[in-house]
Amino acid sequence: MGEVKAPAAQVKSAVREVLAAKREAILAGEPVSLADLGREPLLPLFAERLAARLRPRLRTVINATGVVVHTNLGRSPLPRSAMEGLLQVGTRYSNLEFDLETGKRGSRYSLVEGLLCELTGAEAALVVNNNAAAVLLVLETLAKGREVIVSRGQLVEIGGSFRIPEVMAKSGARLVEVGATNRTHLRDYENAITEETALLLKVHTSNYRIIGFTSEVPLAELVELGARRGLPVMEDLGSGSLVDLSRFGLQKEPTVGEALRAGVDVVTFSGDKLLGGPQAGLILGRRAIIDQIKKNPLNRALRIDKLTLAGLEAVLRLYFDEEEALRTIPTLAMLSAPLPAIERRARRLLRKIGKPLAGRCLASVQATHSLVGGGALPEQALPSSAVALIPRDRSVNQLETELRRGALPVIGRIEGERLLLDLRTVADDELGGLAAAITALFGGEGR
Ligand SMILES: *Cc1c(COP(=O)(O)O)cnc(C)c1O
Repeated sequence: MGEVKAPAAQVKSAVREVLAAKREAILAGEPVSLADLGREPLLPLFAERLAARLRPRLRTVINATGVVVHTNLGRSPLPRSAMEGLLQVGTRYSNLEFDLETGKRGSRYSLVEGLLCELTGAEAALVVNNNAAAVLLVLETLAKGREVIVSRGQLVEIGGSFRIPEVMAKSGARLVEVGATNRTHLRDYENAITEETALLLKVHTSNYRIIGFTSEVPLAELVELGARRGLPVMEDLGSGSLVDLSRFGLQKEPTVGEALRAGVDVVTFSGDKLLGGPQAGLILGRRAIIDQIKKNPLNRALRIDKLTLAGLEAVLRLYFDEEEALRTIPTLAMLSAPLPAIERRARRLLRKIGKPLAGRCLASVQATHSLVGGGALPEQALPSSAVALIPRDRSVNQLETELRRGALPVIGRIEGERLLLDLRTVADDELGGLAAAITALFGGEGR
């Protein structure tokens, strides 16, 4: 192990922890010889412990699950250009809330509002901490103490902690469920409208789908009803894509612009799902509504940070050239990657690990399916290519654990007796590290 420079306090703690573990082992009656306590055997243990203490807790991992928008693995990796903006703004002063034209106090929201409006055709926009905050803020502003009509089939739970009925309760709005779980008709909404009604809400059923005898009211009809009865219509788009991804084999989903053109008054969506940017909640829609939301004091508690704004602005700018966005925004690049390119990457990985595994693990390229993830486009499986590992000297579960706990953690997925490493979500410049992580477990060096 090379020389490590570390604060004395960290070194002391590392030494103490190793010695405490030895002491415990002795007290527990485990066989510890005097030789085990010498300088030679202890020094590497100290160094190992110290290295673990110095390693950041938030670390990069290799996502070989094939789930593109993976909520547990940080959702969307940011494009490099977004990171440059972040570095500049993060390490210096900025005009975050200062209008350089007038020299007066400015608004952090005005910085990306124009970009969002140009890209989607919205009249006005506001950005908050995440989409959950966006939904809460819109409901609190438009419907506190009043009623919001939602289809029973759209009362979703996302990732365990975000549930439409609960967010609704926190906002102070009263939920009025209409229709049946599988079918809701326009007349169900219409019959539920009272003087207390403040809003008609449509929620993207992001992470599940009801199949069979079903029907949902199309957004256009809901918009028509809203207009007829003088009620605003909101859509929680969840993922909210700015580009039509159906040409890459994904199911057709209305883009943010299409939802707005259909006449919806306000939409919300996440910054770090299909948009491929930093965590944020985007609220777009009619000026009168957005202005009302901007004045809500709750806004202050949910506001976004300058680093997020810098990242978001850089990502949004990429969308002015759609092909550029598809190439440079990692989430979009992974979703639109052609199968032959992924297969080539799988074969490259196989070549890199092939020899060192000799006999101790079988490795082959195998067809598989990736998932969009992030509660976006449920059931949307994209044909992909994986390297399948079948260990001979340990169980597949053990291999999965060891790869996950390594210095460069690798997260794959077990299918039967195999560990699959889906190459759709692995970048080309990660192949070397991935190969080394695998071969290190089988005593090889990797190439
Ligand atoms: C993901 C999602 C949310 C929550 O968004 P966050 O950005 O994770 O807060 C809300 N509504 C829908 C429909 C979603 O898919």
